[in-house]
Amino acid sequence: VPESADAVLDGLDPEQREVALALSGPVCVLAGAGTGKTRAITHRIAYGVRAGILQPTTVLAVTFTNRAAGEMRGRLRQLGASGVQARTFHSAALRQLQYFWPKAVGGELPRLVERKVQLVAEAAARCGVRLDRNELRDATSEIEWAKVTQTVPADYPAAVAKTQRDAPRDPAELSQIYAMYEQLKRDRSVIDFEDVLLLTVGILQDRHDIADHVRRQYQHFVVDEYQDVSPLQQRLLDLWLGDRDNLCVVGDASQTIYSFTGATPDHLLNFRTRHPDATVVKLVRDYRSTPQVVQLANGLLSQARGRAAEHRLELVSQRDKGPEPVYAEYADEPAEAEGTARRIRELIAAGVPAGEIAVLYRVNSQSEVYEQALADAGVPYQLRGAERFFDRAEVREAGVALRGAARAGGNDSLLDGADDLPSEVRAVLSTKGWTSKPPTGSGAVRDRWESLAALVRLAEDFEQARPGATLSDLVAELDERAAAQHAPTVQGVTLASLHSAKGLEWDAAFLVGLTEGMMPIAYAKTDEQVEEERRLLYVGVTRARFHLSLSWALSRSPGGRAGRRPTRFLNGLRPGSAVLGARGGAGGGGGIDRGSGTGTGSRGGNTGPAAVSRRRGPVRCRVCGRTLTEAGEMKLMRCEDCPSDMDEGLYERLRE
Ligand code: ATP
Ligand code: MG
Repeated sequence: VPESADAVLDGLDPEQREVALALSGPVCVLAGAGTGKTRAITHRIAYGVRAGILQPTTVLAVTFTNRAAGEMRGRLRQLGASGVQARTFHSAALRQLQYFWPKAVGGELPRLVERKVQLVAEAAARCGVRLDRNELRDATSEIEWAKVTQTVPADYPAAVAKTQRDAPRDPAELSQIYAMYEQLKRDRSVIDFEDVLLLTVGILQDRHDIADHVRRQYQHFVVDEYQDVSPLQQRLLDLWLGDRDNLCVVGDASQTIYSFTGATPDHLLNFRTRHPDATVVKLVRDYRSTPQVVQLANGLLSQARGRAAEHRLELVSQRDKGPEPVYAEYADEPAEAEGTARRIRELIAAGVPAGEIAVLYRVNSQSEVYEQALADAGVPYQLRGAERFFDRAEVREAGVALRGAARAGGNDSLLDGADDLPSEVRAVLSTKGWTSKPPTGSGAVRDRWESLAALVRLAEDFEQARPGATLSDLVAELDERAAAQHAPTVQGVTLASLHSAKGLEWDAAFLVGLTEGMMPIAYAKTDEQVEEERRLLYVGVTRARFHLSLSWALSRSPGGRAGRRPTRFLNGLRPGSAVLGARGGAGGGGGIDRGSGTGTGSRGGNTGPAAVSRRRGPVRCRVCGRTLTEAGEMKLMRCEDCPSDMDEGLYERLRE
């Protein structure tokens, strides 16, 4: 903990310091990726608290994910400023809603709907419409869009016409499905994610006494990733503020990647118009990435067009030179995945921790071939934003078995010789297919095993945090986690979509599948949609601290037609293409590596250096994932000020 308030300012550059010292009135920070926006606002709050200018409980910091919120709270504590509320819009709203519901409406707040997509399917069926998987996904996101833009079902067709939105189906039909979906929720007394914001906005609008109460509580507001704020979130922010203007926002218009859900950088770009007296600070020093990574990021932005691009800021790397970005072309997708896994093994062998490596792709369905390749290479990995862990069939079956065993065994050992909780669990889970060694290969069998293995690890961590815990305690723990959708984590390579990688950083990032059709994605048709895809690539590139790899495959399957082309966004930026036309030869540093796909590297086996053992890891907060050090918190398996009510994955899943 820094000795004094002033010491909190050490480690900030002059512009970041200006942000930290501007503690009242509107403040807007416009800056590119890796320039320390998140750091500047965190230190700003800490400085204000330590200097006695901000009362911690009156500060509400809004971040994009619960993980980011948890990281900010951890950081604030390290800086000697605990007690600040750092939350997502949703978790802040949900908390207020729970508190005020009995007074404003009466009774308990309805539950959050568990299987929203299924409810949309049911609504469609009742309207006589059958939707396949893709149509269902599109219809669900259309309903979400309508809700965050505060468009009621009857107004949806007009809103589509007005915004010239490329609606996936007949707007009149979708309007019916949307109305039916709302009806079904009412009938079943459930609310969805958007309702949380809509209901909060409604109550704050109608009930001045409640709005006053909230405004007395919160006096200072800080919003990270402000370029992706939706109109509904902005409305909520306005209601929280009332007629005050103690608001600090930070964002990067070049990282606007959620316009498809109704978010818009206009709030960020128009901030000065709305608040003429605002302090506006620009940051350009990039502290995250090497000059090579930054050069590519700048190159991508120099080709960008549209409103966000007019506000781009050239980044200046503060780091020493690092390795050149690797451009790799492969014959087909399995070869790309295998080549990527091989490179990852090499990095791990060279000392890069698996947790400092990410594989980033455009759509979640791309993850499968990488899961397989990493599993074959014996590299542990974790998925972000994947299918809900507690909804998986094997996890539910395991839950039933554990519950049965807990009832039968009571507090005693379940089996002879099973003297601790993890061995009891292993015994129970082995009846469901768990084995001490992973099955060979990949696919459904492997997935099932990974789920069960995650439960075993969870039991091990749980017992470590709560020595002497019984099977019933574990079952209670699982129930609580399932309610909060807090899946256990695996320390390993992160597999994530580009969208869910925002705000995060890794030593090494592998951006894969960079072909036309995937990047930009085939359904990006308008210029604006294509620009958003370019920004998404910019977000991906700027996640890497040192190692950056960009790869693509010329065909989907081995021996398939090699009809794919690398993404247009790299034209003129990747080496070779400017000089030699479309196909550059493999050169020295930074040349294109033409992966042959013949599999030269050693495959499979768990003997290589990448076979990182799954030791008992550190105890992590089950809400934000931060490593815990304090005994009381380890017992709870949760940061003291992390909410027990909120779900790390839910928001991200919605965003997915
Ligand atoms: P993004 O746009 O991706 O969210 P950001 O602007 O929020 O990025 P941060 O995540 O705050 O950037 O910072 C990027 C990295 O640079 C972090 O590892 C941070 O600790 C480091 N950093 C930021 N400012 C400084 C500084 N003044 N001195 C040293 N390191 C810094
Ligand atoms: Mg940030």
